[in-house]
Amino acid sequence: AKVTRLGPSPTGFIHIGSLYVGMIDRDVASRTGGRYLVRVEDTDQSREVAGALEQFARAFDYVSLVADEQDDTGDYGPYHQSARESIYLSYVRHLLRQDKAYLCFATKDELADITRRQEGAKLPTGYYGTWAIWRDAEPEAVQAKLDAGVPYVVRFRSPGEPGARASFTDAIRGELEHEANRNDVVILKSSDQALRLPTYHFAHAVDDHLMRVNLVIRGDEWISSVPLHLQLFDALGFEHVTYAHIAPLMKQIPGGKRKLSKRKDPEAGLDFYIEAGYPAKAVLYYLRGLANGRLAELPLDEALDSPINLDECGVAGPLVDLVKLEDISADHIATLSGEQILEAVSEWARQFDADLVPVLEGERELALAALAVERDGVENPRKDLRKWSDFRSAYAFFFPALFEPVAATDERLGGMAPELVRTFAADFADGYQALDDPQEWFNQIRELATKHGFAPNPKEYKKNPDAYPGSIREASQLIRVALTGSTRSPDLYTVANTLGTDEVLRRVRALT
Ligand code: GLU
Repeated sequence: AKVTRLGPSPTGFIHIGSLYVGMIDRDVASRTGGRYLVRVEDTDQSREVAGALEQFARAFDYVSLVADEQDDTGDYGPYHQSARESIYLSYVRHLLRQDKAYLCFATKDELADITRRQEGAKLPTGYYGTWAIWRDAEPEAVQAKLDAGVPYVVRFRSPGEPGARASFTDAIRGELEHEANRNDVVILKSSDQALRLPTYHFAHAVDDHLMRVNLVIRGDEWISSVPLHLQLFDALGFEHVTYAHIAPLMKQIPGGKRKLSKRKDPEAGLDFYIEAGYPAKAVLYYLRGLANGRLAELPLDEALDSPINLDECGVAGPLVDLVKLEDISADHIATLSGEQILEAVSEWARQFDADLVPVLEGERELALAALAVERDGVENPRKDLRKWSDFRSAYAFFFPALFEPVAATDERLGGMAPELVRTFAADFADGYQALDDPQEWFNQIRELATKHGFAPNPKEYKKNPDAYPGSIREASQLIRVALTGSTRSPDLYTVANTLGTDEVLRRVRALT
């Protein structure tokens, strides 16, 4: 059984990669009969943002990624690091007593100076060997600093010898070998802080051990820290964990690709997908396909139920392609019933488009009819609904409350003479009949078009463009713009039927 964990930091930004890794954590844990826990890594109090935890909970709720253990539900907590100060301190004391760690009073300037000299001598930089100025300090010197109240950090006394190697097995990458760590890294941050908190490295060792995590799945930026982490586990007398380092999600850029960047790419944030209203299932399906290509070949429901396998995860980061995601999402939405879509759009709108909510609630019938138009619009097999925020652009025109009637001078009418628009519209409204037969319904436009001097077909109009104001096509477009506010719409006859005669007349008369 594998016990896995996700270690989000509450910085107010949830990287889509967190969901990606969390999904893998959850799958591996449940497939092996283990546990998946969420531990909040809030040791960097300066980067913390109020409300970030709630935001994290909401976002992960959206994608239904519920941890088996976290604060309130687990027996191995607390599951946020800022509440574990006394635990870390007792392990730090333990290392100090065994001389595996020591107090370091080096000032910022001294540290900068060390680095500068190392760089000058073309040496690897770090606090090690003779550069570790407090490593072998006399106890009296330490006591003098303590007595004077000088702040200090606690550093790990690395056992690494120059030239030593560290080898380990990564569950995705296999056998790896790195230079052993020789850096006396900080394990406990400065004593002048209100909370004495550990660095990531130390918290990783202590927490993962105490929370009986045995498989650490994390971003591959941590691979180079494994030699240090193994030393820490050894110094603490803990059994090693297995590591699986996940390649990051990438973005295509001209001439190559790079990691999805929190600063540069809106789509790097999980909130981007939630705010745009991508159905959670589509996002999960897409990400699962990126993790294991095999899952992209399965139908959505099957892919959501088949666990991701670690050994099928690639070592190169997969590209996130929003166009592909939109296709998946549109296909998924197309399988939903009108009721399901309406429910999901309403739910989304309650959070992100409050004005839409009363309209949808007040006009349920119309909303369902409108959704039905698009969905079997054989003449317009468009995928206009790729995410819930598309509802407005694709369907708002159906709702009188959201529709601004079009005037004869409107530029969407393509520059047709306003006088002609007015007389044509008036004529259309006067004789309008809501017929059952689409052919006959269109004949109303066709006959009027001829009467008002439009060419009988586009070909004829093209041959002699100066002789006509347009063809039958331009005449239909006129009605289309009047009814939908757009030059592109689903089948016009179906739209008119859905709107009902009163609304059709109101919109056409607005042109006169
Ligand atoms: N808080 C760490 C991060 O955000 C977690 C890394 C890990 O999973 O160990 O990078």
